[in-house]
Amino acid sequence: MADDPFENMLAQMDRAEEYADVDHGVFERLKHPERTLKVTLPVELESGEVEVFEGYRCQFDSARGPFKGGVRFHPTVTQREVEALAGWMTWKTALVDLPYGGAKGGVICEPKDLTERDLERLTRRYTEGIRRMIGPEIDVPAPDMNTNPQTMAWMMDTYSMYEGYSVPQVVTGKPLEIGGTPGRVEATGRGVSLVTERLFEYLDRDLSDATIAIQGFGNVGSNAARLLDEGGANVVATSDVSGAAYDPDGLDVAALGAHVDAGGLVEEYVAGEIRGGASTADSRWDDPDQITNAELLTLDVDVLIPAAVEGVITADNVDDLRASAVVEAANGPTTVAADKALTERDIQVVPDILANAGGVIVSYLEWVQNAQEFSWPLETVNAELERRIGSAFDKTVEQYDTKELPDLRTAAYTLALERTAKAHEYRGLFP
Ligand code: GLU
Repeated sequence: MADDPFENMLAQMDRAEEYADVDHGVFERLKHPERTLKVTLPVELESGEVEVFEGYRCQFDSARGPFKGGVRFHPTVTQREVEALAGWMTWKTALVDLPYGGAKGGVICEPKDLTERDLERLTRRYTEGIRRMIGPEIDVPAPDMNTNPQTMAWMMDTYSMYEGYSVPQVVTGKPLEIGGTPGRVEATGRGVSLVTERLFEYLDRDLSDATIAIQGFGNVGSNAARLLDEGGANVVATSDVSGAAYDPDGLDVAALGAHVDAGGLVEEYVAGEIRGGASTADSRWDDPDQITNAELLTLDVDVLIPAAVEGVITADNVDDLRASAVVEAANGPTTVAADKALTERDIQVVPDILANAGGVIVSYLEWVQNAQEFSWPLETVNAELERRIGSAFDKTVEQYDTKELPDLRTAAYTLALERTAKAHEYRGLFP
């Protein structure tokens, strides 16, 4: 059970039901996705070979508005995972009060083995496969793991070619030149940094000089690291697939960021083979230790930020965790068994549906600008992001305190489930 993300999501809902003011019939309905489309994607690769890929789009719930959620390209994608992620998008958009439902897409593939042209063809074929179920008022995809503004540009173009005119609003996370918004690329990482600040304020602790370990240095992890570092916190460890870098005095996040942007691996950075301009002679490169991803999770730090894949904090390693707080930048990084153990140990967890909501908040701001055919400056976008994620954080801790709930996840889920259930109750059943 522990490694099935859908079962994990259902167990999180069940944990919250006892505290949520939700009719049981409506609650049962919320455990099932509205629909999932599975598509077969034959693609002629640059090598001349035809490879047949498989993709999905799950539309979980639309009671509160159009479906919304990213598309991930990853070898371990499964239908159940996509459905779990679509469920989490539903609770996330409800918690941060966006007028959306939840959806998710995924394609089973290893992007590292594909050329740029292969990726373009795969993206276009996938978009063709799901195009009858998406649209600006129907379902709005966005980037997720291994997809980016270029992927969104191909999706937008493919959809628009069929419509016969440009439809920027069909996806979010686009490049600026075709209707993207300033601030979207770093939005999830910025949200993670903002909720970490709020958590420290709430706990009456000082974030400056707090030690932070971040598992994953992709778009979310690297931007969270940069912003927390700029805010005075001490990022002591981070990782990618090659392993983790650890320096108890703090990593040079800017140099590591430039190295990874230039295509470097964390393992090479630790070995002193640095790309992107910095060198081992730079003052802040201080011969970091190479540790494993598993070791990073159990470092004695103030905050642990899992920013990679699902199911990394489990019953097997939870007793070894030494962080005093966990901020879930990834979707679904903690299994239910581990979650209960963290609650018992009084380790505060800011749940994924709150901690990583910055991405979809700024997606919403992009979608609104597209609808208005108007564009906002970065300062307006960032201020609105801060206002919205801050207000969701405040409501979650208020719910936690006033209802004396076991943990912040239960508080977040009760709010999200109650809002979604209310929408179902007002709308009623058809026919
Ligand atoms: N993929 C992101 C998430 O998991 C963003 C989704 C969106 O912007 O629609 O929240």
